[in-house]
Amino acid sequence: MESEQIKIPQATAKRLPLYYRFIKNLSLSGKQRVSSAELSEAVKVDSATIRRDFSYFGALGKKGYGYNVNYLLTFFSEALNQHEVMKVALIGVGNLGTAFLRYNFIKNNNTEIVMAFDIDPNKIGTDIGGVPIYDLEKLEEIITDEIQIAILTVPAGVAQSIADRLTEKNIRGILNFTPARISVPDHIRIHHIDLAIELQTLAYFLQK
Ligand code: ATP
Repeated sequence: MESEQIKIPQATAKRLPLYYRFIKNLSLSGKQRVSSAELSEAVKVDSATIRRDFSYFGALGKKGYGYNVNYLLTFFSEALNQHEVMKVALIGVGNLGTAFLRYNFIKNNNTEIVMAFDIDPNKIGTDIGGVPIYDLEKLEEIITDEIQIAILTVPAGVAQSIADRLTEKNIRGILNFTPARISVPDHIRIHHIDLAIELQTLAYFLQK
């Protein structure tokens, strides 16, 4: 299966990890097939969308049979590159950063935070959840080429300057949890996650 040659729309790609997690659990429980209605109920995506998404992968469910769980599992793990763990560095070991180091995204995921950086002398040289915390001053020296993703949980005011330093390394993606809207060169993908805005948006819709 040559999943990398398949052109998948961005909205569909974003749902892949969700599908993968559910299909993996199904496979572990010994299930051989699943209908789009069952999937829809479990992942809360309507079944028409699921059928359309799956048609991009060449996974065509049969009427009255559903989808073959093993086929889907192989497809998703290849598409999401599950056999390769992507190494992540976290910058800023405050409350949020500490929580991420403890959680470490290792369950159902192919990413692992392997190092962290901070400027606080009380934190430098310690570790959280087995992840060593280094001095930010040594960022360029310590970050190796195998680190492809950086998580930013620093104060907003320093986010851009740290991002600028990261772009000099082999980093390909930044997950920015600061409210700062930072800019990076085109070859780097940046995802902004502003939790305060998310909460405010949810509250806004609840008031409507
Ligand atoms: P959080 O926003 O995660 O809840 P916090 O309120 O505990 O954090 P912040 O002031 O936001 O603390 O700082 C987050 C972390 O970033 C702290 O551990 C702080 O030492 C660290 N930090 C501050 N400035 C820098 C910097 N220039 N580079 C790296 N880390 C920094």
